[in-house]
Amino acid sequence: MKNAIITGASRGIGKAIAYKFAQNSYNLGLIARNEEALRSIKQELEKNYNIKVEIYCADVSDYKKSEEIVDDFYKKFNRIDVLVNNAGITDDKFLLRMTEQDWDNVINVNLKSVFNFSKFVSKYMLKQKFGVIINISSVVGIIGNAGQTSYSASKSAIIAFTKSLAKELGSRNIRVNAVAPGFILTDMTEKLNEDIKNYYLSQIALRRFGSVEEVANVVYFLASDEASYITGQVIIVDGGMV
Ligand code: NAP
Repeated sequence: MKNAIITGASRGIGKAIAYKFAQNSYNLGLIARNEEALRSIKQELEKNYNIKVEIYCADVSDYKKSEEIVDDFYKKFNRIDVLVNNAGITDDKFLLRMTEQDWDNVINVNLKSVFNFSKFVSKYMLKQKFGVIINISSVVGIIGNAGQTSYSASKSAIIAFTKSLAKELGSRNIRVNAVAPGFILTDMTEKLNEDIKNYYLSQIALRRFGSVEEVANVVYFLASDEASYITGQVIIVDGGMV
């Protein structure tokens, strides 16, 4: 049995990733701030799949807390095969209206969290001489987007982080990749107005938005042995938008 830690697993893409890994017999460590949502996911997954789920109610940008979570998970499961850094937020506004607090918040939740969890998990992966880290970036980290300077900067930095860490850890049999989704139907995109949604739709070759399962499938593939010779890559899952 394998073990995976997934951040931002209380809803959306992270929740779908948790289900995908549960269906494939992974024990899970799930992190988010909404404890009630995590509890009900744990209950459902443990009932339907023969796995163990630990939940951690925490802010992923908290360095100390991240270390405690990873240490606790390792103590309980004795091995960490996979880390998925999925937690993320948007706070869209034009640069002139963006406060220092707005900027720091997006960068801390989206980028610092990736540093936190990758650092603490890689300590154990190095010991095991095995591990897979998957970071959820975004197509806007590649092409940019007006009104999303903080978000796209964080997502672009995740790509550079991924490529650098892949080179750092490759010789120890640890793979590090990123997934860059396009427009996926979740709470994050639900709040956009209809005009913006229609504009995006017209830019997507497949003429539909993506589902959370379509992202989870790619994350699961990258975590699996089927992807054993893939590292330092960014896989775009955007229905042909970019
Ligand atoms: P979502 O539905 O808003 O879910 C975000 C998840 O992150 C939730 O589980 C949330 O849980 C968690 N989270 C947010 N801030 C957190 C914090 N400070 N500490 C711990 N957990 C936190 O978003 P989504 O659409 O599924 O997005 C998931 C990832 O995919 C993000 O990194 C996002 O940037 C990326 N992405 C999404 C799209 C898209 O179209 N949806 C496109 C490209 C990339 P709590 O609120 O319970 O803490």
